[in-house]
Amino acid sequence: MAEKRDYYEVLEVPKTATAEEIKKAYRKKAIQYHPDKNPGDKEAEEKFKEAAEAYEVLSDPQKRARYDQYGFAGMGGASGFSGGGMSMEDIFSHFGDIFQGAGFDIGDIGEMFMGGGRGRGGQRVRRGSDLRGRVTLTLEEIAKGCEKKIKVRRLVECKDCHGTGSADGQTETCPTCKGTGRVTRAQRGIFGMMQVQTVCDTCGGEGRIIKKKCPKCGGEGVVREEDIVTVTIPAGVMGGMQLTVPGKGNAAPHGGVPGDLIVMIEEEEHKDFIRQDSDLIYNLLLDMPTAILGGQVQIPTLTGDVKITITPGTQPGKVLRMRGKGLPRIDQYGRRFGEGDLLINVGVYIPEHLDKDERKLIEKLQDSPNIAPGASEKKSFFHNLFGI
Ligand SMILES: [Zn+2]
Ligand SMILES: [Zn+2]
Repeated sequence: MAEKRDYYEVLEVPKTATAEEIKKAYRKKAIQYHPDKNPGDKEAEEKFKEAAEAYEVLSDPQKRARYDQYGFAGMGGASGFSGGGMSMEDIFSHFGDIFQGAGFDIGDIGEMFMGGGRGRGGQRVRRGSDLRGRVTLTLEEIAKGCEKKIKVRRLVECKDCHGTGSADGQTETCPTCKGTGRVTRAQRGIFGMMQVQTVCDTCGGEGRIIKKKCPKCGGEGVVREEDIVTVTIPAGVMGGMQLTVPGKGNAAPHGGVPGDLIVMIEEEEHKDFIRQDSDLIYNLLLDMPTAILGGQVQIPTLTGDVKITITPGTQPGKVLRMRGKGLPRIDQYGRRFGEGDLLINVGVYIPEHLDKDERKLIEKLQDSPNIAPGASEKKSFFHNLFGI
């Protein structure tokens, strides 16, 4: 394990920070390095754990005092602290509530409120957070469209309590807010005392509390599980596009609406083709005799090899176009409206090593009247190549 950083440094708070400041600082870090925001990012995961460790100590007055006095040495044994051995599950079960709370910008982490939930006594609909994933596709897969399975670790409804979080299915009206989910507090403001409404701390704004928490999910109604999600990829997608799989993000606690799974498309490099929007580019290198005499050559397409005819006197730099042999063209809604082309860039291979006989043949050619270009050929060649 790398050398440990000072806990205050980790949370970027002064040694004199209050409990509230420490909580705030931890929230910020936890959201910044949340695994749902940084999928597959090991460094973020380490930072996430490091912040949780720092918070575990600094949020506990006894542990904090011991840490202030003895540093890391004070953290062994009696403190019961595992010294960085906290698993992600531990962090979520200990500090999961850090992601909830009123007036805090939780972005796509945690839950959002949807619908008419803000009114007094209104039923809130919670929405689970979105998850992110990625798939890598070959051009062949993109040409036809395909189905891909991706593995995600997501919050799913707890089967033991059917998402209610209650061991016996019972809930009761929150005694603090009398079921409204909101509490009114008097607060001193610039103009004297003001009435401020905040989310009820006791029930987290739900208006109901659970008497007996479900032992499997600890009353959350959701558990983190590995899930295989099938993603249908329409033909013609492009690297960098995002597909949304509705409802395959995290489940919301206590029976809300699940978030979405957002899948980023990545393209695998192809051995033969370069993609240019919906067109494909293939570089064809002809031998000199075929370029001069013409003939048939085999070229690959995404649907198999085809033979094409090279006309006699084909110049390097010529572009042959095979209509409809590119990729499907799609609009922003994934609707198909045609196909791209396959563009064949013709080059001519000039051999670098010749044996004696070959050399003689070429030398013979040198004296032939039609081998050297005349003025008009010179001009038309550059005209074709550069459009001048
Ligand atoms: Zn309440
Ligand atoms: Zn449960």
